[in-house]
Amino acid sequence: MKRFVYADNAATTPVLPEVRDVMLPFFGEIFGNPSSAYSKGAEAAAPLAQARETIAALLGAKPTEIFFTASGSEADNWAIKGVASSMKNKGKHIISSKFEHHAVLHTLESLERDGYEVTYVDVNENGVIDPVSVEQAIRPDTILIAIMMANNEIGTIQPIAEIAAIGKQHGVTVFTDAVQAVGNTPVNVADLGVDMLAFSGHKIHAPKGIGVLYIRTGTRVRSLIDGGGQERGRRGGTENVAFAVGLAKALEIATARLPEMARVKAMRDRLMQGLLDKIPYSRVNGDTEQRLAGNLNIGFEFVEGESLLMWLDASGICASTGSACNSASLEPSHVLLSIGVPHERAHGSLRFTLSHENTEEDVDYILATLPGIVQRLRDMSPLYDSSMARIKD
Ligand SMILES: *Cc1c(COP(=O)(O)O)cnc(C)c1O
Repeated sequence: MKRFVYADNAATTPVLPEVRDVMLPFFGEIFGNPSSAYSKGAEAAAPLAQARETIAALLGAKPTEIFFTASGSEADNWAIKGVASSMKNKGKHIISSKFEHHAVLHTLESLERDGYEVTYVDVNENGVIDPVSVEQAIRPDTILIAIMMANNEIGTIQPIAEIAAIGKQHGVTVFTDAVQAVGNTPVNVADLGVDMLAFSGHKIHAPKGIGVLYIRTGTRVRSLIDGGGQERGRRGGTENVAFAVGLAKALEIATARLPEMARVKAMRDRLMQGLLDKIPYSRVNGDTEQRLAGNLNIGFEFVEGESLLMWLDASGICASTGSACNSASLEPSHVLLSIGVPHERAHGSLRFTLSHENTEEDVDYILATLPGIVQRLRDMSPLYDSSMARIKD
């Protein structure tokens, strides 16, 4: 029996019905501009303020430190370009890592074209950054450390609290892209000690097109979007009240469900063990413990990830080869290369990302479907043929 299995929750997630319901009034009666002085405006301003308070409380921040943006990418751009601009008199050196999301990497490349210098620290073979390598990269002209909290392809969780402590000790601003972490693992800015943190709505069952940048009080960061006095004068543009309210609801639900991540992890582990057992020459990419509960990134030798995806799609299964942003290019994932996965195995790697919405039947179905697909593709592969011949010799 063909099923539909959505196992690509790191690419995006469906909007939860409870989230959609709290947004609906803002597409109807509550249409006022929250900046307007009359009561129709106040009708929209109050829920916006409430959403900000809810998000702040859930993250351990103050409401005045929460800034709504139009995406996770915008929040990443703002944090990095904003600090680069306001701190350029101190220096133009930034520390980041080789396996950041493209919203961070391409922003850094843009700054490099403008004369900034970036040190990309190595990631070890488990997909984890050593805080010592971050500390060793600090120079007198270092103005920013930008390291992600959880990687979007392999789900590995980084020692952000340690990195933030190092930044603080050296007087360097610390930013973390927590788009994959928020909602999937506990995130508290006070505990982490970071100066800035970004996350996005559509990765946690809110709509696409809303994000948040947390900016600790006192952090020097120039505006990215100039305009009216919205977001305390720091991000122009009439507020997307509906999506802000939806995002607060989604974060509330995700936080309440964090204990249920144990069930997601158990499903992920069963999928991982099942695939390793059923498919010879398969190997998990990245640490299996210091990792988001729902993430499995697994490589199969002698096959192409793109072909696997097509056959999985034909069977109703959505997975990915690394990030959705990479799907148009045939380059192997920069994340897998950064942890030392050889090109060939990187090309034959798949990412499954499970959420609360997935069921044991989904796992059964993937386990019943994928091994046959891998075998069929290997049977057609001249590479596999010759390797097998060599092994037999
Ligand atoms: C999805 C993602 C982003 C981009 O967020 P958008 O809201 O899609 O712009 C940035 N960083 C990471 C780690 C992501 O997974």
